[in-house]
Amino acid sequence: MMGGPAVELDGVEKRFVSRTGTVHALDTVDLTVAPGEFVALVGPSGCGKSTLLNLVGGLLLPSAGSVVVNGHRVTGPPAEVGVMFQSPVLLDWRTARENVVLPLEVHGGRRAARKAGERADALLRLVGLDGFTDRHPGELSGGMQQRVAICRMLIADPDVLLLDEPFGALDELTREHMNAELARIVGTTAKTAVLVTHNISEAVFLSDRIVVMTPRPGRVAGIVDVDLPRPRTLEQVTTEPFQRVARAVRGLLDPRPSVAADGAGARTVVG
Ligand code: ADP
Repeated sequence: MMGGPAVELDGVEKRFVSRTGTVHALDTVDLTVAPGEFVALVGPSGCGKSTLLNLVGGLLLPSAGSVVVNGHRVTGPPAEVGVMFQSPVLLDWRTARENVVLPLEVHGGRRAARKAGERADALLRLVGLDGFTDRHPGELSGGMQQRVAICRMLIADPDVLLLDEPFGALDELTREHMNAELARIVGTTAKTAVLVTHNISEAVFLSDRIVVMTPRPGRVAGIVDVDLPRPRTLEQVTTEPFQRVARAVRGLLDPRPSVAADGAGARTVVG
């Protein structure tokens, strides 16, 4: 393990240039994430949260500034990063186990994938899917498919997890349950995580720190420390300390109480 930060963004800016014009998505973001830390990014829709995550994951390159993961400047997808999106994107014709080992197969071929079968089974057990290893995605519920996606993210043992609204497509109850599961898994494996969400409660439940972003072009509006004991439980959500953190985040998101909470509305009033 390295002594320095897990993720370091220094003066990161992102503009998307196309024939129809330029979108200034991110405006000078400085952010450091320590190893083992869980950081959430919240902000109005379109403020550049996914863009930021994709810059850390090496799927995009910054227009200015630098992105460093584990001491190495990001110029493409780093090996030590695992990603998960709102849609599980599983291959229908492959079993749960075969989907989990896919990242290894892409890099190391079928042999590497075969050798990882046991590890895949152990991960599927970790997320409560023992007994479903040979099932196909079509036979699994949405929540179960996202569990398979969690295992696929973890199979190469990445140090840094990038989570883009991972449970946004699930119903509220399943989502809460999956968040508790995710907190347990990230807690037991001591991984660094960066989560994009617009659900404040979810951000408070999972994070050590919450980075609140401004409307586009996204900048850091403020950072809220989540000083709540771990392991967190769903019962904590209704407690005063939990709600106090949630209020602090809400205050940064929308500093003027008269402005609509909706991101688009806020932009109209501010602009
Ligand atoms: P968020 O995740 O906060 O909702 P995004 O990072 O998805 O925001 O997008 C930020 C802004 O950049 C939006 O205005 C979006 O339309 C624009 N954008 C994102 N990706 C691209 C792209 N590949 N090309 C052009 N514009 C993009």
